[in-house]
Amino acid sequence: MEIFIAETRKAYLLFRLNWTLRIQLMGFGRMGRHELLWIGRLLVLMQLVHGVIGWGKDGHYAVCKIAEGYLTKDALATVRELLPDLAGGELASVCSWPDDIKWYYKWHWTSPLHYVDTPDFKCNYDYCRDCHDSYGHKNSCVTGAIFNYTKQLFSANRGYGPQLSYNLTEALMFLAHYIGDVHQPLHVGFLGDLGGNTITVRWYRRKTNLHHVWDTMIIDSALKTFYRSDLGVMIQAIQRNITDDWSNDIPSWETCGHNQTVCPNLYASESVRLACKFAYRNATPGSTLEDEYFLSRLPIVEKRIAQGGIRLAAVLNRLFNYEPQAAEAVENLLPHYPNRNVSSCCVWPGQTQHGTCTDDGHFIDTPIQMMLTTLKTFVLTSEQNPLGLVST
Ligand SMILES: [Zn+2]
Repeated sequence: MEIFIAETRKAYLLFRLNWTLRIQLMGFGRMGRHELLWIGRLLVLMQLVHGVIGWGKDGHYAVCKIAEGYLTKDALATVRELLPDLAGGELASVCSWPDDIKWYYKWHWTSPLHYVDTPDFKCNYDYCRDCHDSYGHKNSCVTGAIFNYTKQLFSANRGYGPQLSYNLTEALMFLAHYIGDVHQPLHVGFLGDLGGNTITVRWYRRKTNLHHVWDTMIIDSALKTFYRSDLGVMIQAIQRNITDDWSNDIPSWETCGHNQTVCPNLYASESVRLACKFAYRNATPGSTLEDEYFLSRLPIVEKRIAQGGIRLAAVLNRLFNYEPQAAEAVENLLPHYPNRNVSSCCVWPGQTQHGTCTDDGHFIDTPIQMMLTTLKTFVLTSEQNPLGLVST
């Protein structure tokens, strides 16, 4: 009964949150019935293609639910302060938010932030080579986004920059989502097939594409076959694996080299290797994927969900840890390139790089650059701004 109540509550919160955020974000508050009906139809259509570029809702929910269980007291308190009210204090309930908004004009610039592509048949990943959008704007990819939002939260939490204008609520929701995405192997797939999106296959009898299989279908089939169609039961099974079979691996999952706060380059490198070894293998265009593919790939999906959750918690714990951390510095956020800055081999947001910025000027900028470029900023309400940042 408790599980049923929790699930009902989750579904209700998600429903409320989706619609309220959509209405707020799109300014639909004053629309008539006809427009709302039209938008409703559009949203249904969007839900049908929802999984094209992200773990499905269940995958993201599972990653964030697992992360919640590994947050320290301090980190959990800060996360709850930053979450929008409608999240009901539950990070997992808003982890799909970046997928819900990316369809809207205002948020189109976030679409390339859900994935990164490697050159065709290259089973390795390289930030400077691969992290750009289809127009060649550097840093516009999932790993760039993870660095960006980690840096925003880090800077804010350490009080760097008196004029910070970041929306930390959004930063948290983006970070939680993109750490999930980068663990989906086909979010680091080949450019030529758009991470498996153009590879048409059959999942048992149903026609779909390979990317969707990894976003959603494997999880859906697992829920029906092994978990009584109950996501909570599946999450519990993954949690048991974490404390059991994988327990010796957890410290290595949590750790980033060179004392970095976050290491998305590592996560992306793992993903493309798994994409080559498991996702693309035996999944040529027109093939039918059945039990053999499902049963051999499900453990990969479950392990990636576990790793995403453990790492999201580790990053948030490092960000929101109030213990003295004199040795830690902002530069530790950056990957270990010469001079501890990716700008040594490609342009990094600290450099003036107008081409990187979006219309909103909201992505990738350092606080200084935000001030200099007088780009549109978000006004933080006291509710969204628990850390007392001053909005420009
Ligand atoms: Zn996504």
